[in-house]
Amino acid sequence: MSISNLKAVECPHCLGNNKIILYSSITPSSDESMRNSVLNDKLFKYNCIHCGYEARLSYPVLYNDVNRRFMLYFIPDCERRVITDRVIELDRTRLAPIKKRIVTDYNTLKEKIIIFESGLDDMALELTKLALKIKTEKKYGIDVDCGYFSFYDRRRIGVTFFDAETKEKHLETAGMQVYQKSLGIAARLGRKQRMSRAFISVDEVWAQEILYRYHRYGFED
Ligand SMILES: [Zn+2]
Repeated sequence: MSISNLKAVECPHCLGNNKIILYSSITPSSDESMRNSVLNDKLFKYNCIHCGYEARLSYPVLYNDVNRRFMLYFIPDCERRVITDRVIELDRTRLAPIKKRIVTDYNTLKEKIIIFESGLDDMALELTKLALKIKTEKKYGIDVDCGYFSFYDRRRIGVTFFDAETKEKHLETAGMQVYQKSLGIAARLGRKQRMSRAFISVDEVWAQEILYRYHRYGFED
């Protein structure tokens, strides 16, 4: 069950009072509409009932997909890369660990939901994305500041990158064999993290570390 509470806020535009719903936890398996309102931007938006002013809310929330066994801890601008607690440490079930990720921005929250719902491995995807990023920057002679998973089919995987300067979009694709190879690297070099019961960040910084180790030491850890 999703957990929420009502909070009174003052509109930054007209100073009128509004009551908004804040969620501390979202469980899409018991409420499909919650998942949709995360993906279509509705959940974190509010409209002032007095003047119509629209704002984006940003606060920590736990997205817990029980059926697909992944949890996303959305903590805006969080700088920690691992979050653990005693409850997590005591969880000694024999099942493969639930995938637990820290995400620090809204687009990444949505991206991770789509990746996990597609049955893809986010570690392999981050490695593929990094390889594609390097290729894209070379190809156009630009810097790209972020890339998001766009699609995959039997042959290819696509990532959309944004030019850091012009914000122009570039959709780039890699063959599925790049993803498969990344999966092998993630399975070997990310083994400890795959077994971790803590919340961890799996992002470009993570991929850079793994790729560095791979190029330097191969599969030794
Ligand atoms: Zn207002």
